[in-house]
Amino acid sequence: MGVFERKAYGLSCDVCQKVYINEYLDKSLWWNENSAKEDAENKGCWLIKDEKCYCPACYEIDKDDNVTIKEKKE
Ligand SMILES: [Zn+2]
Repeated sequence: MGVFERKAYGLSCDVCQKVYINEYLDKSLWWNENSAKEDAENKGCWLIKDEKCYCPACYEIDKDDNVTIKEKKE
């Protein structure tokens, strides 16, 4: 087999545009969307909500489990 291409999926934060990288695996692309989301949620503590992705710096969860998304900086 020679060289071939395959589609890959990554996540970027909806607020700060940061790209999710799994630092243990040095990996930022997955073969499918769900794997990317699961990895970011489970390993990276990202929040995936309503088809949007938020890095740990851009949201807070208070003691009552209320999620606050930080404002986008223009
Ligand atoms: Zn962010």
